[in-house]
Amino acid sequence: MFDGIGDLESGRDALTRLLNRRFLPTILRREIALQANTGRQFAVLMLDLDHFKAINDTHGHEAGDRALKHVAALLVQNTRGSDYLFRYGGEEFVVVLGSVSRDDALAIAEGLRNAIASSPVTLADGSTLRLTGSIGAAIQDGHPDYERVLARADAAMYAAKRAGRDRVVVDDGGLPDPPGVRALQR
Ligand code: GH3
Ligand code: MG
Ligand code: MG
Repeated sequence: MFDGIGDLESGRDALTRLLNRRFLPTILRREIALQANTGRQFAVLMLDLDHFKAINDTHGHEAGDRALKHVAALLVQNTRGSDYLFRYGGEEFVVVLGSVSRDDALAIAEGLRNAIASSPVTLADGSTLRLTGSIGAAIQDGHPDYERVLARADAAMYAAKRAGRDRVVVDDGGLPDPPGVRALQR
């Protein structure tokens, strides 16, 4: 219980130890300002685990929690130390990649997708469980509102789901306008 309180205060999600989503606006506003002042480009990845409800239903909530911790560790291992890793929702994660080209952002996204698909999680009974995730990528285009780049990454993630999951889709402006931004505050 005291650990949980400490996590709240230090801004990290208690289960995954990743950053709490409430810091996302601050980080994105800062990256947008940096881009405006220095031209330094950044990218946002939105990751949603595939068929996660079925994992909980079949293997139990504890297995689901274990899978979330496992994915968080893969995110840490397969990004750069300077990237920002957020738990955005239940089984959704946001990665903010600073100082990145489009090609590098997509290479990191594909590396993450591959790491998740090729690293099964070991459950408490020793059995292993395969996971996959769908990733939407958006490269910041100079738009001043942080909600915009997040909404583009979200729309790309849903396009990845529709296209069959376990894949990366990048929003290069060809996707329909995002259907409104999901509220950052719950
Ligand atoms: P899709 O491939 O379309 O993303 O399907 P899905 O089943 O992953 O999507 P959905 O949003 O229907 O389900 C997400 C599930 O994630 C619902 C909930 O049971 C589970 N979940 C959310 N937060 C947690 C958590 O903290 N722990 C565990 N174990 N499960 C969680
Ligand atoms: Mg989800
Ligand atoms: Mg999901």
